[in-house]
Amino acid sequence: AWADAIVESHPAEAAAADDNEESAELHRRIRSLSTLGAAFAGQQQVEGLLRELQTRLPQLLDYNLLEVLVVGEDNDVRMFVSQTRPVDHEDTWKLAQEICNAIEPLIDIDLSPESLKWEGNAPMRPAETTPASKGSFSLNFPMVIGGELVGCLGIQLPTDSESAQDARTMLQIISSHLGTSLRNAQILENAESQALSDELTGAYNRRYLNRVLDAEWKRAERYDLEMSVALLDLDHFKQINDKFGHLAGDTVLVNLVKLLTNELREIDHVVRYGGEEFLVLLPQTGPSEAMMVLDRIRNTVANSVLYEDPEHGPLNVTLSSGIASYPTTATSSPEHLIGFADEALYESKGNGRNQVTVSSGRSAKAGGKQAAQLSGDERRRHPRVEAEMSVRYIPLPGIDGQVVHLDTTDVSAGGLAVRGPEQELQINSLALVYVGEQEKPMLCRVVWTSCSWWS
Ligand code: GH3
Ligand code: MG
Ligand code: MG
Repeated sequence: AWADAIVESHPAEAAAADDNEESAELHRRIRSLSTLGAAFAGQQQVEGLLRELQTRLPQLLDYNLLEVLVVGEDNDVRMFVSQTRPVDHEDTWKLAQEICNAIEPLIDIDLSPESLKWEGNAPMRPAETTPASKGSFSLNFPMVIGGELVGCLGIQLPTDSESAQDARTMLQIISSHLGTSLRNAQILENAESQALSDELTGAYNRRYLNRVLDAEWKRAERYDLEMSVALLDLDHFKQINDKFGHLAGDTVLVNLVKLLTNELREIDHVVRYGGEEFLVLLPQTGPSEAMMVLDRIRNTVANSVLYEDPEHGPLNVTLSSGIASYPTTATSSPEHLIGFADEALYESKGNGRNQVTVSSGRSAKAGGKQAAQLSGDERRRHPRVEAEMSVRYIPLPGIDGQVVHLDTTDVSAGGLAVRGPEQELQINSLALVYVGEQEKPMLCRVVWTSCSWWS
């Protein structure tokens, strides 16, 4: 506001008319400073703030190297580096060392360039301490807000570009702006991450799911990517609570989330969906891959100790899971996809628990045999057309290269009838099916078989 007021009282034309270059330059800088302040105000994330600084500072100041150290919660220290021209590793290291020295009295942990978390590539440690690059000097600005250290801005400038005093004044203003904005962003980020995660397990909560689900769905649609949703539910969890107490149950949940986080990729999302029910969102993952991941998790859980009772020893815990994938399962919304995953989970439970089921994309709230029965009825509802087409049939869970070539005998809106070897066409088994030259597979389930001596 202060910068804006000065700019308003000194219109640009007036400054130019003065033909006073110095005043025009001052005017330009104040305006840039004011824009930077506004850009900071519009950013609510630490990374966003540093991005603004890195892109806008070169317009204000000629410098070689910029390093911003940010002190987060629990003294989690990160270092952000950017440069406007090639800089030696030694210089990057040296500036970091100076920053560490500058804030040493303000922080109660030992800091050195080695111990920093570098965003991007960490510079190599110089073989020996080298003298500062010729023709440059550096400045440091620790940022302290409300008595708390937020970070430190360090900069290396060429000696010929600025008067040191000018640069210092400007950077003082910038670093105090930055410090306040960083602190606000950190408070907001902490509050958000608390509001979006489950207190007991640290997994994300449903509020978080609501946020990412739409975003992931739109991304999958726009870029033609696959995406899978898996629901996991612990088997007979109530018995664990009843037998060993609620605290034992809690321990199982906490350890399960640890295990899930270990087994999954960074881009996957683990959400506590209900009491002992979890939803795993797997971007860029098709049904066969999701099946393999979830079955591996199922197996790991069955063979791990999630709770050990002092009297009864290690507990046997298993889980059941249901998967639905986009776009293989034809759905119009992510909620719909979760609905299919839920039905598949229900099937896993009905078929004896400790197993994973991929949704066939057909609503059938019933166990295996009945599902086959229902689909059998459905078969009769659609007129059939005799047709012989070649089919590539990949049984799930897929193992690369295991393609079975089959022929259809007839087709209808309800499905395909194919002729093929008995072991591949087990009732209820799933497969990816490419009909003819189709490039996209359909997810199919064997709902009915008949054995003939000649096939
Ligand atoms: P199923 O195999 O059919 O899933 O059987 P189940 O016993 O797991 O099914 P149900 O959904 O009936 O039981 C879930 C239990 O999970 C009931 C509830 O007391 C327990 N539960 C839910 N949230 C928590 C929690 O935060 N901590 C503990 N210890 N138990 C919880
Ligand atoms: Mg359960
Ligand atoms: Mg449950």
